[in-house]
Amino acid sequence: MDVFSLFMSRLSGNLNRRLLSSPQVQSLARLIFLRKNEFKFKALKELAAMALDQAARAYRREEPVAWTSAFFPDELLHALNIIPFAPEAASGMAAALGLSPGLLNKAEEIGFSKDGCSFHRCAAAGTEQDLFPRPDMLLASSHLCDGAPQLFQYLSRRYNRPLFLLDVPAAPGEAAEQYLSDQLKELAAWLERHSGRKLTGERLEKAFSRSNRAREMQLQVNELRRDPASPLDGGEALAFFYLLLVGQGHPDTVHIYATLARELAEGIKNSWSRDRGRFRLIWMQLKPYYRNDLLPYLENELQARVVFEEVNDVFWPPLDPDRPYVSLTRKILSNPALGPGRRRLERAKWLAQRYNAGGVIHYSHWGCRQAVGSVYYLKEGLNQSGISFLSLDGDCVDPSNFPPGQAKTRIESFVEMLDQRTV
Ligand code: SF4
Repeated sequence: MDVFSLFMSRLSGNLNRRLLSSPQVQSLARLIFLRKNEFKFKALKELAAMALDQAARAYRREEPVAWTSAFFPDELLHALNIIPFAPEAASGMAAALGLSPGLLNKAEEIGFSKDGCSFHRCAAAGTEQDLFPRPDMLLASSHLCDGAPQLFQYLSRRYNRPLFLLDVPAAPGEAAEQYLSDQLKELAAWLERHSGRKLTGERLEKAFSRSNRAREMQLQVNELRRDPASPLDGGEALAFFYLLLVGQGHPDTVHIYATLARELAEGIKNSWSRDRGRFRLIWMQLKPYYRNDLLPYLENELQARVVFEEVNDVFWPPLDPDRPYVSLTRKILSNPALGPGRRRLERAKWLAQRYNAGGVIHYSHWGCRQAVGSVYYLKEGLNQSGISFLSLDGDCVDPSNFPPGQAKTRIESFVEMLDQRTV
């Protein structure tokens, strides 16, 4: 048994918040996690270190802790030195550590329907078992994820902490902008009240400038990934989604994307990975986080490279510190997955063209209405444009909802079809 497995086996039976809050356990976890994995990219190691440090600070309650739902704008939190904690990311981590089956059983016991998103069910059960750092406040946004407001209402009652719900209109437009930017202004005052801190122009400017610098770096990364010699695989690239969840406006996000851009530029220059893969694919939605070999199988065995992912797309314009609430509003409303399915489809087509991809795989996570709801529309529209499409049913957190044999058969047929098309 390696030191990581030993650590996990000792820990998993006794996991609780007190243990996870212990500085000794945190240092050991940091040492083991960062040593255990052989990181192909320094940027991935920096990302893992950032996630571990953020979690450790939240457990130690060094600053106020805000639980945030996916896609909540983090810039205001980082401006106030509030630590964001994303329960969905914690569920992904629980799946990676092999803890999700037990948590999902617990969620069912306490009354969470199996029909719901397993990211949410796992987070609810983790809360019941008091695994996570306790929040000072909860922040949920209604856009894209219809389950998040419900989960956060439950969490707010469970922890007896205040909840701010951002009600995002389903489509952009002048009225929507006004409605949302008024709420963001209200949110800023709410955060000041609950954190006891003042949101000065200087703090806001700093967080916005970091967010904009990270955006620039991410654009550089995305541009470099168009090169066929780019050494970054889809399975690795999906990890950077964490930065969209809790890293917008955080200083480490800028460094991580800058490191990645350097590493990709070097990899391309040295051409140590030229001509990888016979087919170029776009990946939509997330991936299974528990132990599985789906993406390595696709990319290594079938030689179909995921050259870009929907979650790494920079779709928003730069933020303007002089008009903070309007520009944050525009960032939120510019998400292509918001509003009619046509927007998501057009963006998927654009990505396929930009990355010269002949196919799109949509990992259809069980219970995610916003993503799975538009699958038929995506298939029809992409096929009409000559882009092959596969919706792969599965679950990011619940391994029992993902028969690997079936999934492999489906991607093999998909790749065969791509093969025939190129003949
Ligand atoms: S997978 Fe879908 S339902 Fe689940 S948390 Fe993400 S957006 Fe919400």
